Amino acid sequence: MPLYAYRCTDCSVFEVQSPMGSVRDAEPCPDCGAPAPRRFTAPNLSRASSSAYKLIESTARSASVPAVVSSPGGRLPSSGITRNPLHRKLPRPD
Ligand SMILES: [Zn+2]
Repeated sequence: MPLYAYRCTDCSVFEVQSPMGSVRDAEPCPDCGAPAPRRFTAPNLSRASSSAYKLIESTARSASVPAVVSSPGGRLPSSGITRNPLHRKLPRPD
């Protein structure tokens, strides 16, 4: 349910959670009880940061629209022989 902001003229701003369509133009203030008019604000669609939102969006988009690449990623070994000295210690097949 969305949050709607109301501003009491004597106290402060408070928020009321109510289902869409049943929002009222004024709510009683929780502190003094006086009717507080609704405060119109920008819709609060996402609290995520832009980089986190981009990652979520790209992950969701990859499910239906996967990225098209022209070549396989990474570098394939050309000779099949590794030059890393640590690989000599690995167990070998008999
Ligand atoms: Zn008040």
